Amino acid sequence: MLYAKPKLNAFPVFFRTEGKSVVIVGNGEEALAKARLIDHSSAVLRIVADAPEARLAAWIAGNAAVHIEDSYRPEHLYGAALVFAATGDEALDRRIVADARRLGLPANAVDRPELCDFFTPALVNRAPVAVAIGTEGAGPVLAQLIRARIDQLLAPSLGPLATLAASLRDAAEAALPKGDARRRFWRSFFSGAPARALARGDAARARDAAAELLREGAHAGGHVALVGAGPGAEDLLTLRAQRLLMEADIILYDALVPEAVVAMGRRDAERLPVGKRKGCHSRTQAEINALLVELGRKGKRVVRLKSGDPLVFGRAGEEMAALREAGISYEVVPGVTAAFAAAADFDLPLTLRGVSSSMVFTTGHDLKGDVLPDWARLAISGATVAVYMGRSVAADVAGRLIGAGLSPDTAVAVVENASLENSRRFHGTLADLPSLEGRHDLEGPVMTLIGDAVAGANFAGSEPLARRRAAPAAARGKHSFAPALAHKSA
Ligand code: SAH
Repeated sequence: MLYAKPKLNAFPVFFRTEGKSVVIVGNGEEALAKARLIDHSSAVLRIVADAPEARLAAWIAGNAAVHIEDSYRPEHLYGAALVFAATGDEALDRRIVADARRLGLPANAVDRPELCDFFTPALVNRAPVAVAIGTEGAGPVLAQLIRARIDQLLAPSLGPLATLAASLRDAAEAALPKGDARRRFWRSFFSGAPARALARGDAARARDAAAELLREGAHAGGHVALVGAGPGAEDLLTLRAQRLLMEADIILYDALVPEAVVAMGRRDAERLPVGKRKGCHSRTQAEINALLVELGRKGKRVVRLKSGDPLVFGRAGEEMAALREAGISYEVVPGVTAAFAAAADFDLPLTLRGVSSSMVFTTGHDLKGDVLPDWARLAISGATVAVYMGRSVAADVAGRLIGAGLSPDTAVAVVENASLENSRRFHGTLADLPSLEGRHDLEGPVMTLIGDAVAGANFAGSEPLARRRAAPAAARGKHSFAPALAHKSA
């Protein structure tokens, strides 16, 4: 064995405080910190403070605590469930702890571990569920870090869900035999329709869904979440997406979804790449739709991970239609779409007061026909345009927009691998945009933003879009970037 079995020197338990009082002795910040912590419980707080500092006094006034404005005497401890010595005075703290022990009460002296009968944890409170983190004094900072991570993982609706579970315990025991059936019910309850309804704040629907589960026996209902993985940086994932990844039985992901995000799933979740890089579809959309339905029917909790936002050029419409038709429950979790990530990389305002008040998401792949699509008209009337999958149609987009009357001087920004460490940024004008088609050095996904608001971006560190041959100074001036905004807003 590599490590000896670790032994705790302080064993965690949950101490009943309902209907009891907890006494804190002290005037300052330490007493206040303990008061705040104990206030997570329903205990009656008795604070012995003969000269409370302003913040403690304010807290006592604003909360249901009993203020004993008196210098400490042992009688103040009578009947307490727990005692905290937080006076900052070592001799006094020692006396309080000794008094408490004489009375048979467990005591804690702040910052004096050698005097403590028990330690207080860092706490994640989803009452009635609590996660208490202890480090036996190895470090409050470590405990806070762990606390923050656990807090992120647990839905805010976990408390109400546990309360609802408690209210159903008798009904579940009456309706379902002990063992597999009951376990299946609770598993569906805690990760299925009742949990989802409560996460939306719909308590009535959660109760109905739980009753349904009880009536019909829990054939664990499958569920598909269409989840936005964001533009690439793993910390641009939403907390909800992360939570669902932790709960999924299987994760289906697109080629653009970064490995680090896929890896956030449960360790034993199945992971299945389903495509689609330009030119080499590993599965057809129809196959993906059918697979989602099949997995849902098998009762799987599926996360369908799509880059950016699932509803923006993600073919989510087809997947949702297939799921609806098959009667499989699903939800959509939004993500940061590539246009937003590209704009952020450029400090680029997508709308700009007095310059641009609307925005278009397009692919530019609809520009081939004779009729100018509506979005081109919007561009001409000042909308900021985000072109997805636009590299191979850059010349068409530029040519048609200029032909329709958009100034060739209109500002253009291009970002490859937005939000990622290896991102590259380019700037230029609409007249430069066709050169994008020839840039074979760009291997990552590319976002193109066009419009007058784009001229408000921060171009420090960005490269010129067109690698132009030396041109006469006058011509360079004409196509130079900065004047575009001035000319337009004049
Ligand atoms: N649903 C995705 C878009 C899928 S279409 C979203 O909301 O972002 C794929 C196109 O998105 C790519 O061709 C590219 O234009 C754009 N894209 C996705 N990730 C990108 C990134 N990190 N940087 C730049 N463009 C990106």
